[in-house]
Amino acid sequence: MKVVIIGAVAAGMSAAAKLKRIKPDYEVVVYEKTDIVSFGACGLPYYVGDFFHDPNMMIAREKSK
Ligand SMILES: Cc1cc2nc3c(=O)[nH]c(=O)nc-3n(C[C@H](O)[C@H](O)[C@H](O)COP(=O)(O)OP(=O)(O)OC[C@H]3O[C@@H](n4cnc5c(N)ncnc54)[C@H](O)[C@@H]3O)c2cc1C
Repeated sequence: MKVVIIGAVAAGMSAAAKLKRIKPDYEVVVYEKTDIVSFGACGLPYYVGDFFHDPNMMIAREKSK
């Protein structure tokens, strides 16, 4: 079975990870139109508010992982 997921933020990557855990034999492909996956938009107010300065801290996972 091949499953295609559109969007690689919270919902898409959660769905992909869960599916691979319960159906490891499935082929799961995630399409993301930007270069960033697992972006945590919830961190934006803290970044804008100067609580941290490295925007990469809002990215939970690299594409390669
Ligand atoms: C300021 C802020 C604070 C937040 N605080 C919280 C919080 O405290 N707690 C909480 O639980 N949630 C919070 N959220 C919400 C949380 O971040 C979102 O629920 C989450 O980002 C939603 O992710 P999503 O995957 O559903 O969709 P989206 O974030 O909408 O991501 C969709 C992805 O799909 C991609 N995409 C769209 N169309 C295509 C296409 N045709 N082809 C390929 N890729 C496509 C987009 O590029 C995008 O990366 C906050 C959000 C914001 C902005």
